[in-house]
Parts: sequence; C-alpha cells; structure tokens
Amino acid sequence: MKNGKDLWTRRRVLSIFIALAFPLGLAFCGPSAPVTVAPGAEHCEHCHMTIHDMRFHAQAVNQHGKIRHFDSIECALAYQKENAGSVTALYAANFLHQGTYLTLLGAGEPAVIIQSSKIKSPMSGGLAAVRGSDAEQILVKFGGALKTPKEIQDSGAASGTGRPL
Ligand SMILES: [Zn+2]
Repeated sequence: MKNGKDLWTRRRVLSIFIALAFPLGLAFCGPSAPVTVAPGAEHCEHCHMTIHDMRFHAQAVNQHGKIRHFDSIECALAYQKENAGSVTALYAANFLHQGTYLTLLGAGEPAVIIQSSKIKSPMSGGLAAVRGSDAEQILVKFGGALKTPKEIQDSGAASGTGRPL
C-alpha cells in the first residue's frame, strides 16, 4: 500500500511540476512570435515593401529569437529557403481572422495554404493561409488549389528575386 501511495504522490508532484513548468518554459524559452503589428509599421525582409495588408503578413523567427516580417507568404518562404539553417519558426496571418496567426514551421495550429488568382495578395502570388477547417469555404469562394510550402518554394514563386509572380 505504501508503495502505491508513494507512486501516486510522485505522479501528482510530477503533474503539478509539468503544469507549472510548461507555461514558464513558453514564457522564457519559447519564441515571442507571432506578434501583431500595425499596418505600415514594418517592411518586408525579403522585398522591402511596406507591409499594409495584414491578411498576408508573415513572420519568421531565427535561432536567436529575432522576428523578421514579410508582406506575403511567398516572401516568407523565399527567406526560409535562403536561411534554412537559421529559421526556427514561421507564421502566416490567418486570412479569415485578422490578428491571428497560423504556423508554417514550428509549434502551433498548422496553416493550410491556398493559391488562387482571385486572392489579391501584395506580391501577386495569390497565397492565403487558413485553418484546415476553413479551406473548403475559401476554395468554393475563390477557386484555386491547396499548396504546400515546399511546392511553393520549388515552383519558383518563392525565388530570391522578390519579383511578383
Ligand atoms: Zn515581400
């Protein structure tokens, strides 16, 4: 009986420790991104355009916790391709829910990327990030297709030039 009780106590202590340590770990060790920024407050790290349309805002975090901002998903993916070793997390604005972000790389709710010529993104790539559960609604409204980050990088859309597609 004693052993059983000790085990229970140890489990309980462990679970309390995990419950306390997890948020602390996030606060002190994890990236502070994604952050929300005001329209016009940041420039795209890749193409240097001012970021106005926050529906397409993307951000990358490097191994030092520094955040880089992008005006479009293709610019963020181009940056990731060029800095593959140093980018530890990549986030894209949720096209449907302003001020919230989805994850292209790292922890968090994964983004589904839709490419449609009817989505008027800053760099003309027509790329928008949504939740998986919202993808069908967007495809019905705008047409287009689902794309993976790798497909976008391999297609040349995320080339190093920063040119519109
Ligand atoms: Zn850009």
